[in-house]
Amino acid sequence: MKFNTKAIHGGQHDIDPAYGSVMPPIYQTSTYSQTTPGGHKGFEYSRSGNPTRAALERAFASIENGKHGMAFASGLSAIDAVIKLLKPGDEVISTNDLYGGTYRLFTKVFEQFGVKFHFIGMENAAQIQSYVNDKTKLIWVETPTNPMMNIIDIKACASVAKKHNILLAVDNTFATPYLQRPMDLGADIVMHSATKYLGGHSDVVMGALVVNDDALAERLYFIQNASGAVCGPQDSFLVLRGLKTLHVRMERHCENGKKIAEYLVKHPKIEKVYWPGFENHPNHDIAKNQMDDFGGMISFVTRGNNYEEAIRIVERLKIFTLAESLGGVESLAGHPASMTHASIPKEEREKTGVVDSLIRLSVGIEDADDLIGDLEQAIG
Ligand SMILES: *Cc1c(COP(=O)(O)O)cnc(C)c1O
Repeated sequence: MKFNTKAIHGGQHDIDPAYGSVMPPIYQTSTYSQTTPGGHKGFEYSRSGNPTRAALERAFASIENGKHGMAFASGLSAIDAVIKLLKPGDEVISTNDLYGGTYRLFTKVFEQFGVKFHFIGMENAAQIQSYVNDKTKLIWVETPTNPMMNIIDIKACASVAKKHNILLAVDNTFATPYLQRPMDLGADIVMHSATKYLGGHSDVVMGALVVNDDALAERLYFIQNASGAVCGPQDSFLVLRGLKTLHVRMERHCENGKKIAEYLVKHPKIEKVYWPGFENHPNHDIAKNQMDDFGGMISFVTRGNNYEEAIRIVERLKIFTLAESLGGVESLAGHPASMTHASIPKEEREKTGVVDSLIRLSVGIEDADDLIGDLEQAIG
């Protein structure tokens, strides 16, 4: 099955044997009746499993070309489950330009439990090798990175991971499986904040994991059930509905993203535009190899790098909404230095390029001319 068909039908056969409903019913139940202790129809308690969630989990596995899917209460709880595979003393090599919440979870929660994290620039994959030792258990990759749109070579990371028997996890939130399929490139675990493009309508918070290996799936399923950060049936239904248009939404996100990146790069008041589709993007060739298109996430910096001016621009936008998050049908704008990355010290964030005037856009699927007009009036 090709991707566009899988987005709609993947894992969705015989979804309702009782009445043949085309969408799975929302099984709004915490428990299931048993005829005799242990005599149930596959579900016994909704933390352990729920039919609506199970339908979504099969869909996740299908679109990411994996065998097992798991749905969580949020992207961060999905990451939390992955790190719980580790023990005190274990080490993780992670991307340095990382989603802020992931960085916070690693440093403020898991470091306390004795897990050691190395945050490194992975644009040059050869760098990773020098941080590997016999305690290294996991490589954590996010590509494209947030908000600098760096591209990391997943295949090169996988070859280091395989050589040393280390797990490779890829946060595929920005690219989505429409653009990039980490499993096919050698990843062991694919993670999503389904809150973003997979859900696609800014109406739900959810996380996902997809793996191939049965034993690894079993360990993660154990953690999912033991820790209990599962999503409810209503949210499962919403994300399943969102998935059915992922491919058409992504096509338009990419189309609009390209038009806006090309408009911004010619604007006299703009110093630099970060978008992997530009030929002079430092890792454009890797992006071209591992992605089918370049997506709708764009960051840019205004000339003079003035904090107040950047704030004025995001305040003046009318169609773009000033808000955290990304990946919905509507366009959003954010100012990382004062919003998503405010908790990272100025010197630290500036090292990775998150300067005072950096603005991040999640380009939606509205009319591109209207979006460009909005940027024109806001940038002035
Ligand atoms: C939003 C996001 C997360 C966290 O997901 P939540 O659903 O907000 O918990 C993780 N990684 C990336 C890249 C994100 O954009």
